[in-house]
This record gives sequence, C-alpha cells and structure tokens, in this order.
Amino acid sequence: MNATDTTPNPLLQEGRLPAFSSIEPSHVEPAIRQVLEENRAEIAALLDAGVFTWESLLVPMEQMHHRLDRVWSPVGHLNAVMNNEELRKAYNACLPLLSDYSTEVGQNEALYKAYARVADTAGDALNPAQAMVLRQALRDFKLAGVALDGEAKQRYGDIMSELSALQAKFEENLLDCANAWVCHVTDEARLSGLPDNALGRAREEAERRELDGWVFTLDFPAYQAVITRADDRALREEFYTAWVTRASDQGPHDAKFDNAATMRSILRLRAEVASLLAFDSYVDYSLATKMARNPNEVSDFLNDLAARSVPAAKAEFTDLEAWAGQPLEAWDIAYYAEKLRQERLGISQEELRPWFPVDKAMAGLFAVAERLFGIRITEQADVDVWHQDARFYRITDKDGQLLGQFYTDLYARRHKRGGAWMDECVGRMQLGEPLVHPVAFLVCNFMPPGKDKPGLLTHDEVVTLFHEFGHTLHHLLTRVDYPSVSGINGVPWDAVELPSQFMENFAWEHEVLPLISAHFETGQPLPDDMFDRLLGTRKFHAGLQMVRQLEFSLFDLGVHASSTPDGAADVDAVLADVRSRVSVLPTPPFNRFANGFSHIFGGGYAAGYYSYKWAEVLSADAYSLFEENGVFDAPSGSRFLDEILSRGGTRDAMDAFVAFRGREPDLDALLRHSGLAAQA
Ligand code: ZN
Repeated sequence: MNATDTTPNPLLQEGRLPAFSSIEPSHVEPAIRQVLEENRAEIAALLDAGVFTWESLLVPMEQMHHRLDRVWSPVGHLNAVMNNEELRKAYNACLPLLSDYSTEVGQNEALYKAYARVADTAGDALNPAQAMVLRQALRDFKLAGVALDGEAKQRYGDIMSELSALQAKFEENLLDCANAWVCHVTDEARLSGLPDNALGRAREEAERRELDGWVFTLDFPAYQAVITRADDRALREEFYTAWVTRASDQGPHDAKFDNAATMRSILRLRAEVASLLAFDSYVDYSLATKMARNPNEVSDFLNDLAARSVPAAKAEFTDLEAWAGQPLEAWDIAYYAEKLRQERLGISQEELRPWFPVDKAMAGLFAVAERLFGIRITEQADVDVWHQDARFYRITDKDGQLLGQFYTDLYARRHKRGGAWMDECVGRMQLGEPLVHPVAFLVCNFMPPGKDKPGLLTHDEVVTLFHEFGHTLHHLLTRVDYPSVSGINGVPWDAVELPSQFMENFAWEHEVLPLISAHFETGQPLPDDMFDRLLGTRKFHAGLQMVRQLEFSLFDLGVHASSTPDGAADVDAVLADVRSRVSVLPTPPFNRFANGFSHIFGGGYAAGYYSYKWAEVLSADAYSLFEENGVFDAPSGSRFLDEILSRGGTRDAMDAFVAFRGREPDLDALLRHSGLAAQA
C-alpha cells in the first residue's frame, strides 16, 4: 500500500524515537524530497532576509541539517540491518538527491559569504564551540570549491565526479578479477590442514557448479584459510600468486582487469584537486581536515615507529625461519606463523567462547563504564524496534537525569550487513528549544544463541564490543549543544578511533575479567592460566604486524605526495623504496599489492591510512594513565570524560589530548602493549 497524503509519514514525525514498525520503503523518497525541498526554500529565505548572525543564520542551519540527519538515519540503519529489494531501491534513489544537495550547499557562494560575515562580525561574542562550528563550516565550503572562479569551479566538479567513477572502477576491476578466478581441487590429499568451514564452503561451491571435489573462490576468508592452514605448499603458492596479482598485469589474471591505468588517473586527478585549492599536494589537502598538522609530522611519526619496530620484526622473522628449519617464501609465512603461535601459546579464540556469554560480557562492559564515568545504564522494554534481537538502553547520570539512549542489535542474520559499527540515530542538540538527547545504534554480527546455549563470544568479539561501545559513549556522553560538532561529529578522521580503541584496553585487564567472564555452564570466570596465554597473543609477532601497517601507510603517503597534476607517481618505484626501508619479509617481484589497495584507491583512506596507527598511539597513551592510577580510577575517568569524550568536535584534538594527559602523545604505551618497548 502506498503512503497517501492523509497517512502521516512516520519518518517525518518530529521529536520522537523512530517508529520502526511503521516505516515502509514507500515513505523514504517522499520524506527525503520533502526535507530537501524545505531546506532549499529555507536557505533561500535566510539569504534573502540578509541578517547574518549566529541566531538568525547558524541556528536554523544547524536545525535544518539535524532534521535531515534524523530523517535519513533510520533509513540508512534499516538498509544495513533489514535489507530488502524494495528498501534498497528507495535508499539508492535518495543517494544522488543527498549528494547533489550537499554539493549545492557546499558551493553556495552567497551562503559561504553569509557564514563569513557571521565570523567577521560576531568575533569574540562567540563561545569556543560556536567558533569551531563556524571554522569547520568555512573550511568545508573551501574544500568543496566554493571560492573557485567559474572555470575552476566547473573543473573541480568534473574531477570530483570523474574521481568517483574511477574509484568505483578500481573496486569493480578488483571484484571482477577475483570473481573470474577459481581453484578446482579433486585430490583430497591436497586439502590437508584446511579447517572444516572452509572445506564446507568449497564443497558447496563445487556442487553449485556441478563439479566433483572442491571449488575455492578468491575471497578473503578462502585466501586466509589456505594461506594460514593448507599443508600443501604448492596450493599456498597458487593462492598467494592469485591474491597478490589481482587487477594487475601479473599472475593468472586477464589483463582487462588491470588497475594500473585507473590508479594513475586517480593519483593525477587527486593532485589536480589539491592544486586547484592551492595545496602543495593531495597529502596537504587530506590533512586539512585531520588532527595531524602537516605531512612531515605524519612521516616523522611513521618513521619513528619504524625505527622502533623494524628490529623486532627482523628478529621475529629470523626466529620463525629458524623454527621452520628452512628459508621461507612469501606463501610460507602465515602458515608457519600460525603453527608457531599454536605451539607457543596453545590457545585459540574458538575455545574461549564458553567463558564469554553475551549477557555477561555486556553487563561487565556496562559496569566498567558506570564506574569510570559515573553513569547508570538501564534497559528499557516496550520500545518500538526493527527486529526481536534489538534492545534499547538509557544512560542517566548519578541523579537519574537522562544523558542519552542507544539500541543494540548484536547477532548475525540474513539481510544484515556484516561487521560491527556504531551509528548516529539522533545527535545531541540544544538551540533554545528543549534539549534533544542523543541516540545511537550499536550493531554487531555475533554468532546467535543456539537451542540450548546462550550467545557465546570469542575474546576478539568481546574486544569488538568494547570498541563499539567506546564510539557509543563518545556519541552519547557529549555535552555539546550544536549538532555539527556534538558527539562524533566534527571529530577528525585520525582521532575518531581514540575513544573506541581506548575502551578495548579494559577487555585485556585481569581486574575486568571477572566482570565480563562467567562460563555459561559453571559460572566460573576464565582461568588465570588461559587468560595469561590469551594476553600473550596480543604480543605475538607484533613487530611483523606493525611494519606491515607502516609499509601501507608510508606507501599511501609516498604515492600521494609525489603525484602532480601532470602525472602520477611511479607506483612500483614508491612501493619498492618503502619496502627497502621497512619490510623484513621476502616479496616476490610479481607482487602487485597496490593494485588491490582499496582503502586508498577505492575509498576514504587516501593519504589517511596512517590514521589507524595514529589513533592507536593516542588511545594506548590515554589508557596508560589508568595503568598508572588504577583500572577503575574515577578521577581519571571523569577527566577523560571532561577533556575528550564530552567535547565532540568543539576542540582541537591535540589540545584535548594534552588537556587530558598533561603532555603531547608519545609512542611508549603502544610499544609496551605490543611488547615492542624493549626495542625502543
Ligand atoms: Zn571504530
């Protein structure tokens, strides 16, 4: 049934939690069109009125975009967790509407000038949060090309759409190339060592294709299973070769999937965007919205980490080769590393599940947050949700005052996107009218409860839960009134993982273990000797893992820094140079890793891959205060809340860190947690 004019559109009901059970795909496009139309009319009216103050311009703009986010958020959420054909169509139909609107607003010169007028005239009358809203907005207008003259503005728009097509092409080549490759095995002896789930999938694939034996496709789970577990060295080599030559002119693949030319075009066009906006390189352009101050600071950071971890990585590799008793090729490393880990630590994630029932882990996580931040978390029944697995919780302060609310949806099921994430449902806003409390979605894909077993987690999954809850707290414990900089909004990309990775640390503490662990049959917490072995896994081959991430980060910076509007960097040469400095593993000459590096060529990590390590250093160093003062030290907790967690994007991320820690971040805590400190 279609939504008619007389049926109120549930997406447009104001001031309440989303009415999930009433939202239909037919509500989506009309709601978005209506909000965009109303916003356009209101922006035009604001500009016509010609009075440009915080109250007359910024407040209505903040309210407008808060409302748009609030209408769109449940749609994006349902598309991710309750996907179906009709909803996906409605969702996709809105994407160009939203992106056109955002380009139009970003390049609206009259609006930009009106914002600039507020900044010029209001000056000192603005509080620091308001000043930050304006500063970020003016920056984003410029990054959208608002200040360019006619021809350059046009060129900017053309490059942006060309880039989005090229980035999509990069992903398509990679996917199509992988899809075109299969490995058909009929001799069971070749499959020795492979885990049952990988064999089961390969068997099903063979049946689907009406073939004998086993058919492996080139996706990550299959590749990972073979490269870490297959005893047959030739099979590992075959998979390795196929994997590291995807979308290139090497290996077994069709040359039509080669990404090389696409990569060159992407790098050249990004350099041209940076140059149009008067940046020295795309690295400078990328850093304009990040915590890191300039390219030198990032490369010094990475080189410093390299100097401290390369010796450890070398020693780990020497030890591994000695243990294997033979020189190792690239396709042997993961296999022998897994065997060595089993021998030295003798613990697997799967065997930990009975000790971590979901309800216990959640209750323990809440207890940790309550003690640290002086809050109370209570479940509330009778809230309209999208699925029976979903739950709803309220966070209040000590006096029972509501701070924020969140939904959880923890178990994997069909038609739900994989992975784990926190997303904004409603942002905090107080602009005269009653306070709007923030609301979040916390979504995971854990193994669902069985007939006679509750949902049971691996320790990796417990860590994931802590991680996503860190994002959730960041969004909900904000005290900022302006939605564009409240919660996680306006927080730089390389700092946004600070609260999440910070929370992960608690899942590795002896003192926290009894709170999160109780065997689902005996009620006993995980035994100490098992926990100690688990702690050991955190440090196993930490040097090798570190230099791998550094290699990716340095390569990303290098190719973007040395590309110009006239031509792309020599990708192979940059990679060879980086490897000569930080890599300790043998790499065969046919390896074309870059042709499959989606993070930077297909998506949002361009000249930003370092963000992973950057935020990890911040979070480890922030956490070290709790190692000094005690895991549950309440003054440290409230300081973290006051200086970082509650501040949203209103404060320079480095200032916030320094205010919390009393000094700039250093690498020691991260190196110590990974067992690399001895090298420093
Ligand atoms: Zn995260």
